[in-house]
This record gives sequence, structure tokens and C-alpha cells, in this order.
Amino acid sequence: MKIIDCVIIGSGPAGYSAAIYLARSNIKHLIYTGDIPGGQLINTTRIDNYPGYSKGILGIKLMNEMYKQAIKFGSIVKFNKILKVSFKKKKNYLYTNNKEKIITKSVIIATGSLPKKLKIKSEKKYLGYGISYCATCDGMIFKNKIVAVIGGGNTALENTILLSNICKKIYLIVRNNKFKASKIFIKKIYKKKNVKILFNKIIIKFKGKKILKSINYKNKINNKINNLKVSGVFISIGNYPNTLLFKKKIKMDNNGYIITKSKSTKTNKKGIFAAGDVQDKIYKQAITSAGSGCMAALDVEKYLNYYYY
Ligand SMILES: Cc1cc2nc3c(=O)[nH]c(=O)nc-3n(C[C@H](O)[C@H](O)[C@H](O)COP(=O)(O)OP(=O)(O)OC[C@H]3O[C@@H](n4cnc5c(N)ncnc54)[C@H](O)[C@@H]3O)c2cc1C
Repeated sequence: MKIIDCVIIGSGPAGYSAAIYLARSNIKHLIYTGDIPGGQLINTTRIDNYPGYSKGILGIKLMNEMYKQAIKFGSIVKFNKILKVSFKKKKNYLYTNNKEKIITKSVIIATGSLPKKLKIKSEKKYLGYGISYCATCDGMIFKNKIVAVIGGGNTALENTILLSNICKKIYLIVRNNKFKASKIFIKKIYKKKNVKILFNKIIIKFKGKKILKSINYKNKINNKINNLKVSGVFISIGNYPNTLLFKKKIKMDNNGYIITKSKSTKTNKKGIFAAGDVQDKIYKQAITSAGSGCMAALDVEKYLNYYYY
């Protein structure tokens, strides 16, 4: 059976950037797209912070451009999913959902991260139409508008602080009676004049025709249901890395992020590299993912040169 030089698992900015670099170095590789070809960005509308697009670009268009660039240089894209992995010394076995078995010298894990969902029925309907999981990315869409941020941890508070400089008013909706965040953020939040904090409130419904117009929430103290008119909602209850497939096969931190060596994409297993949100619990942006995808490809090239060529 033929042994492939490298397999990239994931087709977000990290996966495609790695593919472009591998292709241009003439390293034979396959890229598996998984269930979401193009990754998280295909779920959003316009991307305004990716360099090179002064007028912004639709997420789906940006990812299509990356796909076209990769195949132009020779990447082979497989619209399938990796279901099982077995990392052995110098030979790694991957099993796909179309019953293929692949042997590869190296692997780039770029399976991204997934935002934690509220798990409310109407949540999916308004994604990109009022609901966002990323204030850095979508905050400007709601300039001078009234929005809500859901969550009581560091991410929610950081998002609220960021949005307070963009939006007219922010309702910060917290499930419990206190924040679970750093003191510095809490202090800042209380200084913000356009932030109204609603403790002990649980979101129960998102409302609007095609575009989100309001939310219903329940007061935990008296069980009363209220309606709040908002143009946008930022669900900020955390993220989780998409690493279940690699559990006990690769070193991860307590939150499931793959641990990579400093200034590198190397994992604890030789020949296995990780790029993008899957190993980044801080930045989680398209540009940082693309950057680490590039790093992973260069790391793979060095690895192959050292051990194989
Ligand atoms: C709504 C929204 C809006 C955003 N807006 C912006 C923005 O404006 N600007 C910005 O910089 N960032 C934005 N982000 C963040 C950005 O999308 C992420 O940081 C980036 O997509 C991470 O890239 P990635 O390549 O690491 O992973 P992802 O984009 O998450 O891609 C992961 C890939 O892995 C694949 N995969 C998963 N499991 C498997 C498997 N078993 N086999 C094969 N493939 C698999 C998936 O199908 C997917 O293709 C936004 C995020 C969201 C959710």
C-alpha cells in the first residue's frame, strides 16, 4: 500500500493554508474536509478583518478562494471525514467514513474548535442573522445598535468590553448571580455606562422573521418571562476544541486543546502536527489559524527531509 507524505485533517484556514504550502513544496498530500468543508467561516457572513480584502469578503467566498488556491497547486481534496486514527512510529493509519485506510508519514491536525451552544431550538436559525459566537469578528455589524451578550465568564466580559466601544447598549445576560471572570474584567464592566447586567436570567427563545429581533428570557428568581428587543446576540459561553478523535492518542491540556511545542506545531508524537483553533485557546482567528497552518506545513517539510528523504 502506498504511503502518503502527509494528510491534513480539516479544511478551515489552517488546513488550506497548510495544503497551499505543502503543494508548493511538491509534498504529496491529501486534505480531508470533514463535515464542514471550509470550516467555521462558512457559517458567518462578511469577514472584515482578513488582510487583503479592503471591502470585506463573505466567509464562504474566502474559503472557496483558499480551496481553489490549494487545488491549483496540486492539493488533493477529499470530501470525507477521518473516523479513526492510529499514530505509530513513522507510519500513521487513518480510517475514513468511506471505508478507506490511509497510511501516511505525517499528519496535520486542523480540526478547529466549536463554540459551545446554548442548545435552544431557535439558535441555529439566526446564526449569521443576528446570532454570533465571535464579537471580534462580527461586532462592527452592530455598530450603534442594541445587542446582548450571553455568558458570565472571561470571554463574555471581554466581548462586552469590546462591544461597549461599538454598540449603543449591551445587555450582559448571566445565568447565575455572579460572574465567573477575572477581577480586572469585572471592574471594567461596572465602569461601562452602556452595559446593563442582568443576573439570574436564562435565555429561552430567540425571535424574529428571518433576522433576529428579540429574545425571551426567564428570571430565575420569580420565573417571570420577559422580552428584550435586540439586533444582535453574542453567545459567549466558551469554545471547545474539536479533538475527541485524538483523545488518549496525543497530548492535550485539561480543556482538550492539543499541546504544541513553543514556536512550533509539533505535538508530543513525531510526525504529528497541529494547527489552528485546535491548539490555540487564546487567539482563535482566521489569520492566526492560517499562520499556524503555514507553520505546520514548513514543520512537516523539515520532518520529512530529516527522516525520509
Ligand atoms: C460565526 C463565526 C464568525 C467568525 N468570524 C471571524 C472573522 O470575521 N474573522 C476571523 O478572523 N475569525 C472569525 N471566526 C473565527 C474563525 O472562523 C476560526 O478562528 C477559524 O475558522 C479556525 O480555523 P481552523 O482551520 O483552525 O478550523 P475550522 O475553521 O474550525 O475548520 C475545522 C475543519 O476541520 C474539519 N474537521 C473536523 N473534524 C474532522 C474529521 N474528523 N475529519 C476531517 N475533517 C474534520 C471541519 O469539517 C472543518 O473543515 C469566526 C468564527 C465563527 C464561528
